[in-house]
Amino acid sequence: MSHDPLHPPLSEFALTTEETDAIKHALALHDSWKLEQVGMEPVRDTLKALRNRIKYFHLMRQKNLCCYCRSNLYGGGLFTIDREHIVPKSHCKPLTYEISNLSVACKRCNMEIKKNKTSLFHNPATIKDTHQDKDSYKIIHPNFEVYEDFISRTQLQEGTSVLVKFNKRKEDAKTEFTYEFFKLRELECNSFDAAQGLPQSTSTQTAIESSLVSIAQGDSIPLDTFISLIRQAATSESDDDQKNSSGINTLPKDEMNKFITAALELYAKSVNEQYTPIGHDRTLSLPAPRAQESDE
Ligand SMILES: [Zn+2]
Repeated sequence: MSHDPLHPPLSEFALTTEETDAIKHALALHDSWKLEQVGMEPVRDTLKALRNRIKYFHLMRQKNLCCYCRSNLYGGGLFTIDREHIVPKSHCKPLTYEISNLSVACKRCNMEIKKNKTSLFHNPATIKDTHQDKDSYKIIHPNFEVYEDFISRTQLQEGTSVLVKFNKRKEDAKTEFTYEFFKLRELECNSFDAAQGLPQSTSTQTAIESSLVSIAQGDSIPLDTFISLIRQAATSESDDDQKNSSGINTLPKDEMNKFITAALELYAKSVNEQYTPIGHDRTLSLPAPRAQESDE
């Protein structure tokens, strides 16, 4: 079994005799997870309580974050908590109640993206026997690996606008696969459109501008200049951007990502420098290109 780096450790999760018997009973039924079905009655209450126990155990291990996209499972509003089967129960029924095969995920990652897919295993045919080996998975394993060793999610919120950026910490296949499989880039872009009821480009600009105003620190470029640069970028022509119904160009994706990065780097910088609220005369500096990271 792969090393368990999280807390509380999986080894601390013990089943009672009653729970073990209830699981056995459930596994003999057609659907071992569905509580509302004929035949489940004698163990329904036991399993209901067990599943709550499983949920809170894994919420502790994941620090209340989705095990795949790191959204906050309590703060996301639209996100509700799913108990997530890493190897789908439809693919391997005996793992339905296996604690190391369970975690917590948001509805988007679990229901909209992952579903019952088996393409995230190197060998779906043998996963039943190798499910406790992290190297059997193309994704970052929620229980056997620390997500932040591969990808870190940064979030900046200004009013109702939320900026999200995923920083890849490793150049390896798992990092890339997880980023692509769970469409994390899409989350970065969508986060700009959080302001409700506004045309896309307007909310995008508002998000960038209001965030930058609140995080501005430094002294090399006047704030007004920087904001006008961003405004230009948000309305500039590009090959692939599309005009929305109001005739305003939406921000091209690569420009958008560039500004998310810039905004978040400024934010991080301002936090390090003990951020103080700014007035209109304050200026900010663009972040220097990131230096090549050295191997440590
Ligand atoms: Zn998620």
